[in-house]
Amino acid sequence: MKSRTLIFAAGILIGIAFIVVLSFKNNQSDDKIKDVALNARDRGVYFPNSEDLAPDEMRIISLGTGMPYGRRAAAATSWLVELGNGDKFLFDVGTGSVANLGSLEIPYDFLNKVFISHLHTDHMGDLPALYVGGVVGGRTLPFHVWGPSGDQENRGTKYSMDHLQEFVRWDLDGRTGRLPAQAFELITHEFDFMEENHVVYEENGVVVRAWPAIHIMDGPVSYSLEWNGLKFVFGGDTYPNKWMDMYARDADIVIHECMMSAETAIEDMGFPPARALEVMTQIHTSPEAFGKVMSSLKPRHAIAYHFFRDFNIAPGINDGIRQTYDGPLSLAGDLMVWNVTKENIRVRNVAPIEEAWPSPTPFPIPPMDNSGMITESEEIKSGTFDVVQENQMIYDRVNKKYGTNFEPRIK
Ligand SMILES: [Zn+2]
Ligand SMILES: [Zn+2]
Repeated sequence: MKSRTLIFAAGILIGIAFIVVLSFKNNQSDDKIKDVALNARDRGVYFPNSEDLAPDEMRIISLGTGMPYGRRAAAATSWLVELGNGDKFLFDVGTGSVANLGSLEIPYDFLNKVFISHLHTDHMGDLPALYVGGVVGGRTLPFHVWGPSGDQENRGTKYSMDHLQEFVRWDLDGRTGRLPAQAFELITHEFDFMEENHVVYEENGVVVRAWPAIHIMDGPVSYSLEWNGLKFVFGGDTYPNKWMDMYARDADIVIHECMMSAETAIEDMGFPPARALEVMTQIHTSPEAFGKVMSSLKPRHAIAYHFFRDFNIAPGINDGIRQTYDGPLSLAGDLMVWNVTKENIRVRNVAPIEEAWPSPTPFPIPPMDNSGMITESEEIKSGTFDVVQENQMIYDRVNKKYGTNFEPRIK
């Protein structure tokens, strides 16, 4: 009996000791975790919606950096510029780029100012999606597009935007009375493509200027945006030109196109050699030419884009540029971010929100006028399959939950 009691007591003591040691160990690992958290290095990533801009800061995000045809890894040209004063500007809205824009979860009322460099679809192809889809996503304000005239009226931005509205006519008419009318206003600010360094926008301390670019036909332009002592330049598509060399001086950031090599166009894109040489060096800017432009301009930071940044392509582009330029450089892919202040330029990648939802507008939603609403004809409505009962249950459920009293339109 006695020895059994002793064994029992010893067992309890060992058990207690074990728990004490375990909890001590746990405390130690908790401390370790704390240390790791305290000493975590900067991940070099920008999480959308997680950082306020400083009042003197500019944030630039690449939304599209690739080619005219679709590719999951690179949308066509689009750049977002956000300023510490709250203003936001889009430069080009190329095909595929609005998915990247949406991943930032910025309210669409802040994404209603677009400056188009030229009317190639890889620079404006997603305008219908931003113009109409932006309203479904919560935009209540009119949509503004700035862009150049053409060598004839039907090659200018105004003609293009007027006909974009016709392209989406069925869509617009069907949404009349269902969404705020003023959000569907498309206001085009066309300017003479030949005017040099002239102001096309000036508001709230922000000045945007344009000058001619050399690209295929007359019409393309380049832009600068100046605010609070910072200067951003977006070249669009262009052969290296004297206007860029004059008006892009003293810039903090210069974004300029930079094509892949003629050999890449022949071998990977299947271009015949004559076309490869024409497209990659005569219609556009080669890496070697890009470097020469930047060596003359000497921006605080140069950004090259308009290529596929594959592992076997990027080194050749870098080598080409480095033959003629040794200054600060980014080879841009989609969803990179540049935070620019007078003291510092910080380059990171965006960690996009893959399953993003539109953020609500902070502005009051304008009153709705649904008098002009168009619905299906009686002939078409006569073809409904009977789900009246099922829909009535949904109406009852929602009315009960939200204290409303709505009736289904189709009975
Ligand atoms: Zn282009
Ligand atoms: Zn182009």
